[in-house]
Amino acid sequence: MAVHSGTVSLVGAGPGDPDLLTVKALRLIQSADCVFYDRLVGEEILKLIPSSTEAIYVGKAKSNHAIPQDQLQDALVRAAQEGKSVCRLKGGDPFVFGRGGEEVIALKNAGIQFQIVPGITAATGCGAYSGIPLTHRGVSQAVTMITAHAASDLTINWSALASMKHTLVFYMGLGECTNIQGELLRHHMSRRTPVAIIEQGTTNNQRTICGTLDQLALLPHWYQIQSPALIIVGEVAAFATEFQWFGQVLPGLNMELTA
Ligand code: SAH
Repeated sequence: MAVHSGTVSLVGAGPGDPDLLTVKALRLIQSADCVFYDRLVGEEILKLIPSSTEAIYVGKAKSNHAIPQDQLQDALVRAAQEGKSVCRLKGGDPFVFGRGGEEVIALKNAGIQFQIVPGITAATGCGAYSGIPLTHRGVSQAVTMITAHAASDLTINWSALASMKHTLVFYMGLGECTNIQGELLRHHMSRRTPVAIIEQGTTNNQRTICGTLDQLALLPHWYQIQSPALIIVGEVAAFATEFQWFGQVLPGLNMELTA
């Protein structure tokens, strides 16, 4: 059985712009027998799947998983056992908040061959396209990628995150801005720390909304920001207005707030 079994490729599709696909990703998209794709894989990239290839949508909007993770894993295993070459296409990078590790465990347990193809993750894609260097000599010495999904339930070391010369990149944070702002201020981060929210980064709809930490909670509603959106907190966020080269930059709320 194993001799005839196919391979599953966990492939990062990048943050949206199809030109940010790797050559390897494109080759696998075009040569697979079937493609299982996520909600975050953009329309432009889906158009690259040949019409003769079976393309299966597998979710996942927040709290609205098209198919549960274990069923998805079973489907990947089954397709490979049928001898298919399977492309599991994920937004960004499969190993950055992409549940790629869980899929690898399922494939390994079933004895299925796999490979993992990195993609440009939202942090680097949005950083580049919004003109925000995630590190910058003398300004930021470290960068941390954090899942903000249900931030209140997680054991996040906020006092470490609030430390100096550090860029924070929050994934899945649009609904958690009040929490993020509250925790960072409580841990003594300056309320004037620049923040930027990058909406639909690298796509034709990209907007970069700038502000300061004490405005963060207001920005999503004020600007009606749509998912997916990435939140960057740290001095480097101020570069967005200076280094802008793509999409729209909104300079943020021109008001003084008291923390
Ligand atoms: N594996 C993906 C992340 C999946 S989690 C990666 O490596 O990028 C989903 C979160 O990623 C979203 O809630 C959002 O915070 C972020 N994200 C993904 N694509 C994005 C985009 N084009 N613009 C802004 N944020 C994005």
